Amino acid sequence: MRVKDKFNIAVLPGDGIGPEVMVIALKILDLVTEFWDLTINYQVAAVGGDAIDQLGKPLPEETLALCKQSDAILFGSVGGPKWSHLPSGQQPERGSLLPLRKTFDLFCNLRPSPLFPELASFSPLHPAIASKGFDILTVRELTGGVYFGKPSLRQGHGPDEYGLDTMVYSRKEIERIARLAFDFANIRRGKVTSIDKANVLMSMILWREVVEEVSRDYSGVEVEHLYVDNAVMQLMKRPQDFDVLLCPNLFGDIVSDQCAMLTGSLGLLPSASINSSKFGLYEPAGGSAPDIAGLGIANPIAQVLSLAMMFQYSFERRDIADGIRNAIQKTLRDGVYTKDLVSKSESYATTEQVGEHILSYL
Ligand code: ATP
Ligand code: MG
Repeated sequence: MRVKDKFNIAVLPGDGIGPEVMVIALKILDLVTEFWDLTINYQVAAVGGDAIDQLGKPLPEETLALCKQSDAILFGSVGGPKWSHLPSGQQPERGSLLPLRKTFDLFCNLRPSPLFPELASFSPLHPAIASKGFDILTVRELTGGVYFGKPSLRQGHGPDEYGLDTMVYSRKEIERIARLAFDFANIRRGKVTSIDKANVLMSMILWREVVEEVSRDYSGVEVEHLYVDNAVMQLMKRPQDFDVLLCPNLFGDIVSDQCAMLTGSLGLLPSASINSSKFGLYEPAGGSAPDIAGLGIANPIAQVLSLAMMFQYSFERRDIADGIRNAIQKTLRDGVYTKDLVSKSESYATTEQVGEHILSYL
């Protein structure tokens, strides 16, 4: 197989801790470019609140143009109290991430939540469950379902006023996300758990049917269907039994946050939103963390793991992704932790120190 060795990346640091952790990811990118057989061009552009301040809108034309010329987007995080007074469509997050997802048809959101054995004590799970570790990949449909269904409106007055949203999924939409989930399960531990509410909702009856049909093309993958209410309980009780969670937009939003919480370390978790040509937007699972921005204590690992996901999914360079992940694992094994991963009295490493440690292992 010929491996493409030249890539363009749009780098959008954004707000809060975004720029601080992006510095580390870019150092790692520079080192990777130097030592592996590939050429990477990256260009930095403004997004979110930073772009509102500089250019008057959360996703300026020049930023969008840069993204269109690129093979992937490395995204920091956006938002913060400074912009919370703005109307919802002009908010940093709604005004940048939603249009990017739409423009590039990023219908598949991937959120890996591994519980690193070294960090089991940070999990809110019972130690007997946490100590066994787990490794769940949430595959969330991102461009359909109740968040986008029409009509969506408010109407009427007084006690008769109502709000209406529409949960709609087409066979086509379900099939493409399901196929990806089964593809991922095929190269992982061979199990897909599809999460729905097929006992009450029409769109979810279709969801279950289509997932079942797709599963017939994957004889090596076990399929399980769970109602979402049951799924959130089972995730607490037996997280080890899950491999790939296949979710519609709404349930994926909820369940992926639950999985992140079960690991107890939001600052470690990356995410990816990809389309059918494997163009992707890669960003930490956590937000801009305004409470710790500017203090030099943010955990850079989620951002660096987002970069690793970019190599794996958009550039098909699993070797580089694994190289980066190994360096991170060794750093964690050495006990080099930022403040979010130590108990109150213990000393901790800065964002930069963790970055240097990862670099030294690369
Ligand atoms: P959002 O609406 O953007 O998701 P949020 O209120 O959920 O915002 P996050 O930014 O996700 O806030 O952060 C939640 C908590 O996790 C905060 O206390 C934050 O400091 C912490 N946190 C998030 N990311 C990191 C990180 N990389 N390093 C350290 N702490 C982090
Ligand atoms: Mg959040």
